Amino acid sequence: MILKLKPSAKGAKDTWAWLPTKDGIYTAKSSYFEASKLDSSVGDEEQPDRPNTVTFNWQHNIWNLRTSPKTKLLLWKAAQNALPVGKNLQHRNITDSAACSHCGNEESTLHLFFKCPYAKLVWSNAPFQNPPPLDTFTTTDQGIENVNKLTCLPPTGIGSGPLSPRIIWSLWTSRNKLIFNKTHQSVAETLEISMSRPKEWQKAQNPLSTPTRNPTTINKPPDPPVLFDASLTLNGKKMDLQASNGSSKLQTTRSRSAAQPLQPTYSHL
Ligand SMILES: [Zn+2]
Repeated sequence: MILKLKPSAKGAKDTWAWLPTKDGIYTAKSSYFEASKLDSSVGDEEQPDRPNTVTFNWQHNIWNLRTSPKTKLLLWKAAQNALPVGKNLQHRNITDSAACSHCGNEESTLHLFFKCPYAKLVWSNAPFQNPPPLDTFTTTDQGIENVNKLTCLPPTGIGSGPLSPRIIWSLWTSRNKLIFNKTHQSVAETLEISMSRPKEWQKAQNPLSTPTRNPTTINKPPDPPVLFDASLTLNGKKMDLQASNGSSKLQTTRSRSAAQPLQPTYSHL
């Protein structure tokens, strides 16, 4: 094989060459590109949080959801594996431990939202027609895509918008409360928060939908119809007033006596 190598016809000396580029010259850009190809060649089992950017519909599963902007941002970070969960912090040498604050297992994004026993309890107690198949999820974006398809049963007070994104938000905030405030939030509380958020969201989205009239005006009953029949004497003229059901008529007749020019006399009320 060595004999098959043909030396340079012009007698050039041997030198090092960077094979990924055509001219053999090393560049940081080509090095980054080669590294990204190495990462993508790793199997899903070793990179469970890597998003499937080819098939994942970002518009449908995140940006077009009827939920708050901060929840959409959280979902996007989760799908990108960009949340500061234990595994990512340990990978960047920010923390020594990647333990989940709820169960002690390694806290990946997939674990926090779909695999942790705490998260499983929240999902299984949520009012869905069918519980999500959490054990089948292998990536976070697959989980987000799947729970977005769940049908929520219609208890009153839920309001509009899907419940799944709000559960993911509640799981994230409950995790942060436990880590930073040392406050344990029960499964029931996490569910309750996720189900109460829509009203806040709706108020924020459409503040003009709330009536702004004075409540005393709203509750005031309508005026009763005018029912009277009266007569008065004015400057020698007798005035008969009759009204019924809002209509009225005024008739004047000459009075026999002008002694009391402005003395009303009511026939009956
Ligand atoms: Zn856990």
